[in-house]
Amino acid sequence: MVLELKKISKNFGGISALTDVSFTINEGEIFGLIGPNGAGKTTMFNVITNMFPLTSGEISFLGENISGIKPHKITDKGICRTYQNIRLFSQMTVLENVLVGGHSRSKSGVFSSVFRTKFQRKEESVMLENAKELLELVGLSGFEDVVAENLAYGQQRRLEIARALSSSPKLLLLDEPAAGMNETETDDLFTLIKKVQKRGITVLLIEHDMPFVMKLCDRITVLNFGKKLAEGTPDEIQNNQEVIEAYLGTE
Ligand code: ATP
Repeated sequence: MVLELKKISKNFGGISALTDVSFTINEGEIFGLIGPNGAGKTTMFNVITNMFPLTSGEISFLGENISGIKPHKITDKGICRTYQNIRLFSQMTVLENVLVGGHSRSKSGVFSSVFRTKFQRKEESVMLENAKELLELVGLSGFEDVVAENLAYGQQRRLEIARALSSSPKLLLLDEPAAGMNETETDDLFTLIKKVQKRGITVLLIEHDMPFVMKLCDRITVLNFGKKLAEGTPDEIQNNQEVIEAYLGTE
């Protein structure tokens, strides 16, 4: 089991964004988190990464209770995320954007100054190789020197994923990665997420594009008004009457 959420709740003042939500994600799964606007999906990412502290409940990652651990420590443990709105360093190059992600897990700080220079040089060349390999994975080889803001929308989305992967996560949280994408871009994203899964990385995905979610995910949890409405395989979710009424509709 990679991630275990036990009865987690998050209140913002008088608003209950999440109420007693529990679910587990197994290693290697692509797990979908769906539900209407305001259901609490992004809040779920924010509490998993401890950008917002939990009101109650417990979150375990690879068997360790990570509730209350600082966000950068959670990244170090192997959870990385992307955001609903693209958050790139728009004036930096494609390669620099990925290298920034890799630096966030640099280990050189533990070495004494005598060894630092030599070690850092080796570490930097490893990070450069890693960054180039990730750019190839996301289909951005040859774009290394392009300034990020000059990329097409779908390419920017894929660059965000490369940057998140540069910290070598074991669990990748993707917040509406297909939003605003055309059909070709969505197809490329589908292939990319499958490749990420093949690398042994577990994926938790928030998405409103239902054909995409149903084709991609192994299991799905449905949130509604901050509570878990249902959980199951794509087939089970698509045929769940409560989910159809609350979210999927009959069309
Ligand atoms: P969408 O699909 O529209 O992105 P969502 O399912 O991701 O929606 P959240 O963004 O998690 O929903 O919001 C859940 C509830 O929590 C909403 O009522 C929202 O207004 C509230 N909320 C989220 N973040 C905050 C915050 N920082 N302060 C106050 N209320 C918040």
